[in-house]
Amino acid sequence: MKKFALAGNPNSGKTTLFNVLTGSTAHVGNWPGVTVDKREGVYKKSSEPVSIVDLPGIYSLSPYTPEEVISRNYILDEKPDCVINIVDVTNLERNLYLTTQLMEIDVPVVVALNMVDMLEKNGDKIDEKQLEKRLGLPVVKVSALKGTGVEQLMEVAIAQSDLKRKGETVLKECDINHLISDVERALIGHEIENSLFHSIKLIEGDELEIKMHPATVKMVEEFKKTFSNQLFGNDLEALIADARYRYITANYSPLLIKKQKGIAITPSDKADRVLTHKWFGIPIFLVILFGMFHLTFGEDFLYLSKIFTLPTLEELGYADNFGTALLACLYDGAVFSPGVILFNLMGLITETLFGFITDVIANLGASPAIVSFVGDGVLGGLGGVLSFVPQIVFLLLLLSILEDSGYMARVAFILDRIFRKFGVSGRAFIPMIMGFGCSIPAMINTRTLADEREKTMTIRTIPFFSCGAKLPILAAVSGAVGTFLGVDGGLISLCMYVLGMTVAVISIILMRNTTQRGEISPFIMELPAYRMPSGKALMIHLWDKTKHYIQKVFTVILVSTIAIWFLSNFNWKWQFLMEEVDGVMVNLRMDESILGSIGMLIQPLFTPLGFGSQLNSNGWVFAVAAITGLIAKENVISTFGALAACVAGGMVATEEGVSEVLAVMGSVGVPLTQLWPAMIAFIVFNMTTIPCFAAVAAAKGETPKGKFKWTLLFWLASSFIAGTITYVVLSVWWTAFIFVAILVAILVGIYYNNKRLLKKENKNG
Ligand code: GDP
Ligand code: MG
Repeated sequence: MKKFALAGNPNSGKTTLFNVLTGSTAHVGNWPGVTVDKREGVYKKSSEPVSIVDLPGIYSLSPYTPEEVISRNYILDEKPDCVINIVDVTNLERNLYLTTQLMEIDVPVVVALNMVDMLEKNGDKIDEKQLEKRLGLPVVKVSALKGTGVEQLMEVAIAQSDLKRKGETVLKECDINHLISDVERALIGHEIENSLFHSIKLIEGDELEIKMHPATVKMVEEFKKTFSNQLFGNDLEALIADARYRYITANYSPLLIKKQKGIAITPSDKADRVLTHKWFGIPIFLVILFGMFHLTFGEDFLYLSKIFTLPTLEELGYADNFGTALLACLYDGAVFSPGVILFNLMGLITETLFGFITDVIANLGASPAIVSFVGDGVLGGLGGVLSFVPQIVFLLLLLSILEDSGYMARVAFILDRIFRKFGVSGRAFIPMIMGFGCSIPAMINTRTLADEREKTMTIRTIPFFSCGAKLPILAAVSGAVGTFLGVDGGLISLCMYVLGMTVAVISIILMRNTTQRGEISPFIMELPAYRMPSGKALMIHLWDKTKHYIQKVFTVILVSTIAIWFLSNFNWKWQFLMEEVDGVMVNLRMDESILGSIGMLIQPLFTPLGFGSQLNSNGWVFAVAAITGLIAKENVISTFGALAACVAGGMVATEEGVSEVLAVMGSVGVPLTQLWPAMIAFIVFNMTTIPCFAAVAAAKGETPKGKFKWTLLFWLASSFIAGTITYVVLSVWWTAFIFVAILVAILVGIYYNNKRLLKKENKNG
């Protein structure tokens, strides 16, 4: 099968084109650096199928970033049959800079002029026939987003792939053209392929080339010695870059005729003046974040019940039937937010459906033990997790909109300005913000961080950006605590998200100034233009996430739930512990179960966090839930579902599941003032501890050598410290002053120590 590679600048639309060509659902994002590894798919619309590889976005073929090395090695070593070079017409010069390098390789290249829809919208024109002539490469106009010109592009590429092409360069008229041909001849003498490309890179002083062709380096050195002072400065790399740009502006740029002359201030620029403002930038981001979480979690969406006392449906005299239940999904004493409405609807569906299934099984004459197994063990746990799917998808939708519109790129930019002072570059925030969706792609994205220490640090803090799977823990436990305290559960959830980010920031600052010292890598990021998010791209992205989530529910989580049911209803002698009380099966001796005894064994570990020994004999369920969370975070809530169901009898939805467990504990004498701080500490623990199994595997693959076990230890330590501080502060409020004082002392110490180090450096330098 023929192999085509997609190469181009970050954010030029490679992945969008890749998705159109292969029908896949890869992540498209309106910020540079989303695709960090190559990705393969198959184009099937031609007579013979073609394999398509999406390479990471690059500005140049120099070896300065991991993306550049991946893309360059792929083209040189794997020898694709054709390189499709995607050029964003709205940024022509910068995109063609890469083209002038690609054309030096002996491989067929086709230029796909992308985003022509934008061009037309702006009323600009490009003479592609003339461009084709001057580049010496076929040029096809496409719009990856609209899908236009794509088939023609593939026809041209297939035709080209049958031809041989010899590398060409735009440097023929520059001062060092003789040097280029001399070095090239020497390389050909050594039978080296892609001689033109290698010779130019060698002259640029490219590290990889110097390692590969040591013999020829001498030639360049000698040339430099003899001629450099007469002709130009010693920096051949700068000379070559300059020559490329000059060629581009002289020969290619005039082919693009802009309707508006000069540099116009676009609406994007105007928006950026406000959104990336020095002072307003961060407050605006926080407001947007609040809006997003309020839309997802707000139990009292319009804050009407803060002003009026609104009657519940029952008080309004609605009968207790399905219609009322449906109405109660939208309103019940308060108007719910879209996220909560979705959750309620899904909860109603699963509850009704699963209740029906349980009834059918019971009526078929199954033994009560089987009914309990299906109802509590399987459906109870699954129902809890499934109810959250629409709410999670809704939150992801909001995140994707922020991302696709181009706003998230601004956030990285704003944060860079602040965190640079603490030793972290904004580049690291892109994977962190991706962590709100799922930690796994976020960890893979850290490949773009060139500095090892920065990378280690970023991987460690990604889990603190609470992922979709942790949302059920947040919503259910915050909801239960909120009901207890009479506070909006959504507000508690938002505070928890902010707390996770705060822990991330604090630990970054601490690491950066202790174990992970190092230079701050430069952060160059072009801000992509604001765009209306494309509905199609959003849907593709969301479906991908939803599919993944549902798959997980019916595999890992199903198995875990069943295991938990067995382990909590049998003791070590394999005796069944359930008994029938008033026609329902309950387990009144769960403490004797296998899970119970294990839970009690580890329970004391959590005493400093408030959900250990002090919660008496029922508290072990929290210990167990925390442990099952290591497999998948959704398990935390399904564990509650299953255990609460057994404790209380009958099927219990999640938030009620937690409330039920809390109520049981309250009834055996645990005071409320201890209980709710413990529950908040429980959320904090889950948010800052070792992430799920799959994320740990991803972290293992990405962390630099020797750092992985420390990373695990770091997560354990951070969760115990953060959890303990939370519990202590919430139980005895004034201890907050002590912790804040310690933190301030540390920060001041770091500040002065850095100043001292800088002074020393200045003296030495
Ligand atoms: P990559 O970084 O090169 O993989 O770029 P992506 O495929 O992730 O696309 C970056 C952004 O450009 C996304 O917001 C796309 O929706 C948008 N985009 C891609 N192709 C087109 C196009 O032909 N026209 C317009 N208007 N936008 C596009
Ligand atoms: Mg991409």
